[in-house]
Amino acid sequence: MPPVALITGANRGIGREVAMQLFRRGFDVFAGAREPERVQPTGYEHDERWAWCRLDVTSREQITSVADLIAGQHDHLDVLINNAAVMDKEPLVNGDIEVVRATMEVNFYGPMRLCNAMIPMLRNSRDGRIINVSSEMGRLQHLTGGYAGYRLSKAGLNAQTILLSHELAGTSVKVNAVCPGWVRTDMGGPRAPGSTEEGADTIVWLATTDHCPNGAFVSNRRIIDW
Ligand code: NDP
Repeated sequence: MPPVALITGANRGIGREVAMQLFRRGFDVFAGAREPERVQPTGYEHDERWAWCRLDVTSREQITSVADLIAGQHDHLDVLINNAAVMDKEPLVNGDIEVVRATMEVNFYGPMRLCNAMIPMLRNSRDGRIINVSSEMGRLQHLTGGYAGYRLSKAGLNAQTILLSHELAGTSVKVNAVCPGWVRTDMGGPRAPGSTEEGADTIVWLATTDHCPNGAFVSNRRIIDW
């Protein structure tokens, strides 16, 4: 049986590249997109191992529908990749708290909702993995000001990773956070040094390695400080 993966925000950027690489490695891929009818085709749509699914990570209903879709085809999920995110540039001083809140909804509560919905199926995997795509901008020693919602959401996602890895200790599910590096996407901008292939590398490695860490923050396939 092929391993099964769900990737959020798979329609563009790093998430799209991760989804395509996992497909090429033999995964059954559920590729989340807010507007699947508008995505640029990958060329894999003809294959029954590839499925676009409507998934806004702020929507409980859509998350439930995707969980039902996967459960209708498989009795387990092997890999959940919480990749979808938005970036704001609010300062904390006089910043707009509603902008910060909106960022938290996607980047922090989104992964929490996805984990809660998918953990029952992940626990049915012999080797389940949750991969939270985070950022060094959320590292505690890098909280240098600005981008308040983004930094706080990623610092929170890192904390969520640690907490969840403890709550799932003794199960088959490993939980890690990853920084993909500064990558040329809509979020990273055209001046970023990394390609999407380079950004996808450690995420795909965490999804496929036989030596997967647990409760770690990983960059360039190495564990880094929180
Ligand atoms: P992009 O801006 O290129 O893509 C973001 C993706 O998230 C899109 O697919 C977007 O979908 C999706 N998304 C946004 N909001 C939602 C939502 N509510 N529900 C579902 N999907 C949503 O970003 P990247 O590919 O660069 O980033 C991917 C991950 O890597 C993020 O977690 C980011 O924080 C992280 N990262 C990126 C870095 C970089 O340099 N690029 C550096 C460090 C971390 P839509 O098209 O519908 O908006």
